[in-house]
Amino acid sequence: MEENYQIETKCIQSGWKPTKGEPRVLPIYQSTTFKYDTSDQMGRLFDLEEAGYFYTRLQNPTNDAVAAKIADLEGGIAAMLTSSGQAANYFAVFNICEAGDHIVASSSLYGGTFNLLGTTLKKQGISCTFVDPDASEEELSAAFLPNTKAVIAETLSNPSLVVLDIEKFAHVAHAHGVPLIVDNTFATPINCRPFEWGADIVTHSTTKYMDGHAMAVGGCIVDSGNFDWEKYKDKYPGLTQPDESYHGIIYTQKFGKLAYIEKATAQLMRDLGSIPSPMNSFLLNVGLETLHLRVPRHCENAQKVAEYLNANDKVAWVDYPGLRDNKYHALAEKYMPNGTCGVIAFGLKGGREVSVSFMDHLKLAAIVTHVADSRTCVLHPASHTHRQMTDEQLIEAGVAPDLIRLSVGTENVKDIIADLEQALENV
Ligand SMILES: *Cc1c(COP(=O)(O)O)cnc(C)c1O
Repeated sequence: MEENYQIETKCIQSGWKPTKGEPRVLPIYQSTTFKYDTSDQMGRLFDLEEAGYFYTRLQNPTNDAVAAKIADLEGGIAAMLTSSGQAANYFAVFNICEAGDHIVASSSLYGGTFNLLGTTLKKQGISCTFVDPDASEEELSAAFLPNTKAVIAETLSNPSLVVLDIEKFAHVAHAHGVPLIVDNTFATPINCRPFEWGADIVTHSTTKYMDGHAMAVGGCIVDSGNFDWEKYKDKYPGLTQPDESYHGIIYTQKFGKLAYIEKATAQLMRDLGSIPSPMNSFLLNVGLETLHLRVPRHCENAQKVAEYLNANDKVAWVDYPGLRDNKYHALAEKYMPNGTCGVIAFGLKGGREVSVSFMDHLKLAAIVTHVADSRTCVLHPASHTHRQMTDEQLIEAGVAPDLIRLSVGTENVKDIIADLEQALENV
């Protein structure tokens, strides 16, 4: 258990806890395997009778230290790192769903998550109903079926920047006896901790602000430990019935509140892989050590850029929850009083072509398939990340065809605005 430090201290101190003579800095355990003295010692690990390391696909000390830090930042009880954010969302759902099950998802989602839930999981027999995140509790309730096993949504959706009413979603999910999974990538635990508002599981693409330097793709799943799987025993047989692939272990009985992450590690990681390399976890940890310094600067810069764009004649619309006239301003004030994120969505007068031409004129802001790192960058989702979607699907996902996603970095904001200004003059 970690000390009860403030979040800034946790960014630096949580996770790796060296004792006498151990390295002060988290070491990179770049080893696939771990040595034992007797056959019996290792056998006990395979039986999950003892905790310990034997193969990096299951557990690795570098990965585990970073997972523990993120669990602590979110206020959760355990976490598991994955090789990407996609793997995190997939495992978070697949850990409690199987063929024949159903999930409810907010329609305002990252394009990759939308495809995962709407298309790929369907091929595995898990169906999904997408709901408008702004719908009333009654409307949301109508999406639930007897075989619904989870609800999933993003705190701040990528790229449409819808602020999730977490309490509303948690309330509806719990009324139907299922957990709420929240992808907290954009807000980060610096600005919002969804467990404090009733979410049960949190996921991250650590690729974004957590890494912060665009160095390593990665993901994470954190469990609050609050969802009572035993209460809905029949609904979650994977957690509450014997696992035949693990000598009949019952995860809830053996691991109590840790059941969800233990199962994800012992079963899903074992069978599906998708671990991060220890080197990448080390880089992620370096990023986490400055998360509390970087996130406020991203927000401060983005606020100024959003205000600048909002006042510009060539700009048709700006979506940034920090703007007073934004539809989600009140929800942002409630759930993220210190700021939302560095990402702004906007469109230019003249539509799609003008937006694309504007991007081609930028100098400091680079066109990259990325978001949420120190360098200012832009992307046109309709031409890039959401390219597979029809215009109808784009609108349903809250992504206008002319939407430019601007990820405001931590450079001096005067330089960022000057770059936008010269590109606007040139379109
Ligand atoms: C980027 C992103 C993902 C996918 O993460 P990868 O690390 O790219 O696999 C999932 N959810 C959100 C909100 C994201 O921004």
